[in-house]
Formats: sequence, structure tokens, C-alpha cells
Amino acid sequence: MRLDKFLSHAGAGTRKEVKQMIRKGFVTINGEVCKKDDCHIDELQDVICLDGEEVSYQKYYYIMLNKPQDVVSSTKDGMHETVLDIIDIHLPKDMFPVGRLDIDTTGLLLICNDGALSHELLSPKKHVEKEYEVIIDHPLSAQDIETLENGTILLDDEPIKKAHVQVIEQCKIHLIISEGKYHQVKRMLHAVNNEVLQLKRVRMGSLVLDEALQEGEWRFLSDEEIAELY
Ligand code: URA
Repeated sequence: MRLDKFLSHAGAGTRKEVKQMIRKGFVTINGEVCKKDDCHIDELQDVICLDGEEVSYQKYYYIMLNKPQDVVSSTKDGMHETVLDIIDIHLPKDMFPVGRLDIDTTGLLLICNDGALSHELLSPKKHVEKEYEVIIDHPLSAQDIETLENGTILLDDEPIKKAHVQVIEQCKIHLIISEGKYHQVKRMLHAVNNEVLQLKRVRMGSLVLDEALQEGEWRFLSDEEIAELY
């Protein structure tokens, strides 16, 4: 891999910034200063230091974002800010959000560049649970809860999978579903003549939204969180 690409992938800066650092002599390969940004390195064997600090090779990055409203869950958008725009560090170009949340939905969004993990989490065959905190227009009746849970609601002409409802307060529920149809939570509540007023995802599989993250804040996943997702 080229030295400038390695350093920018490792989060040291943009390609332009790392080229400058290399040319100024801040970078060493196995203890020798290298001023050539197109120099090829072996990212698994060579020891690369930037300003005396070793830079380690990381192929995959995993970020937990507490998505705010008015930001879209895509990599590019002509109109709105994207979830990638609000992560204020230089990221590898191949990062993407794992699944989508509506523009007005907040909460847990995993952003990574690991296609295999994304498949594990999104494949309809894997039935990964997604848990949402939902503020609804009016309280659910026992019959509404039964209807939401028992898989008889039709979406796109197909019955949805069984779901689970936890009533937290009269107009606040947790809804746990194991599929991800378009506007699924909103359409499920609509099917029982209710309305979603606020929607926040709090869990995806084993990954739980870190309550310390305010909307718009993010952090890297811990090694334990990554291991549990696989
Ligand atoms: N269901 C919805 O209706 N919207 C979301 O953003 C996620 C699940």
C-alpha cells in the first residue's frame, strides 16, 4: 500500500495533509525517515511512525452514532447533511451506514466499512432484532398490543414477523422487531390506528445505544462490542 494512503486510512489526516507531513520528514518507516508519499510499504510488517508515534494498520472502522433528526442515513445527498458529514474526523472513503433510519428518526446507527458485518446485521435471513423507543399519540389497548405482536399486520401485502411490545409509560413503548421494512414502525402503529410522534432506535442485535452519547455525538465501538456483533 502507498504510504500516504496507509496514513490517511489510519486517520492521520486527508491525503493532502499526510503528503505534507511525509514531505516535511515527520514520517519514518522502520526507523528511517521517508519523504516520498508514493513509497510502498508492507502495512502488516513495516513499522510506520508519525512524529515518533507508531501508526497501526486498521482495515475496518466501526462507529456508533446517536443520529440526530434532519440528517439522512446515506453516504451522499444533494439536499441534507448526511450521517457521514457529521462525523468530524477524516474517515476511509468506503465507510457507510448499516441500514437506514428515517430523516426524523434518532438513535443508534452503526457506521463502518465492513461489508460482511453489514450483511450479518441486515440480511432478512438473520432476523437481527432492532429495538425502538416510540412515543405514540395515545395509549395502546390490549388488543392493539396483541395485533402488533402476533404477526397479523400486513405490510407490502405480506404478514410481518412477530414483534414484542414493552409499555414503558402510557404513550411510550419499546417495540422490538426482527426485520426492516420501509417505515416499518410507523406503518405498524398506523395499522392499529395510532401514530408515531417520536422514534429512536436504542438497540440493534447486541449493540446498545450508549446513553452517554448526545444526539449528533459518536464514538468508536469497543473490541467487545465488535466481537459480540459477529
Ligand atoms: N421504522 C420506521 O418507521 N422508521 C425508521 O426510521 C426505522 C424503523
